[in-house]
Amino acid sequence: MRRKIVVGNWKMNNTIAESVDLATAIAEKVGADGVQCEVGIAPTFPALYEVCKVIEWSGIRLCAQNCHYESDGPFTGEVSTRMLAAAGCSYVILGHSERRQLFGETNATVNLKVKKALAEGLSVILCVGETLDERERGVTGQIVTAQVVEGLIDVTDISKLVIAYEPVWAIGTGKTATKEQAQEVHALIRAKVTELYGQKAADHLRIQYGGSVKPSNAAELFAMPDIDGGLIGGASLNADDFMAIVEAAG
Ligand code: PEP
Repeated sequence: MRRKIVVGNWKMNNTIAESVDLATAIAEKVGADGVQCEVGIAPTFPALYEVCKVIEWSGIRLCAQNCHYESDGPFTGEVSTRMLAAAGCSYVILGHSERRQLFGETNATVNLKVKKALAEGLSVILCVGETLDERERGVTGQIVTAQVVEGLIDVTDISKLVIAYEPVWAIGTGKTATKEQAQEVHALIRAKVTELYGQKAADHLRIQYGGSVKPSNAAELFAMPDIDGGLIGGASLNADDFMAIVEAAG
């Protein structure tokens, strides 16, 4: 039985003080409710250390939204996995579609980051997903498979990996994939992972859905057999909405 995982991706929102307030509100609810699923939040880099201090007691995982693939050095504007771990992160989100589309990340650079983060002892949420054009051209399976296969080149142990299926056309648009559309791609991802890593590893792998998940649609998505929780953008910026989604995951 896989433990569901719900992570809030705060993107480029909230100052340090605002992040601490939101994290505190979520931690109080998660701590008091004793939720079943694993819960994570991904504030911006400047807020990580302060947020860590207010969530540590609650069991909420601190997640980063990106990292570089080198440890230190002349990479202006970048942050390394070593720094993230020292700030209290246990997860890093990699290959988000906004990183791929707006900042030129490719399967090859995502792969370098995945390997570096895992080597640092961080867990990785590897994001994959097709654009609207790719879905309409009928190449969703090909695109997502390539993102999984190429993102995991030379990765031998996937025990600290989570995959997030996030159709690009559903992110921040209010358009959610139907539960059947999402399940179909999740099953395809698990089949590919079975081929690459064997049945046992694939059975343990958690695959989150992301793309306009809200309190009103979370339960039906999370009830699908291969959907093991969600990566939540917009709705994670409101503690009540985020908690309703966490509770829908059990
Ligand atoms: C995301 O950015 O990972 C995401 C799923 O965003 P939203 O929930 O706002 O669609």
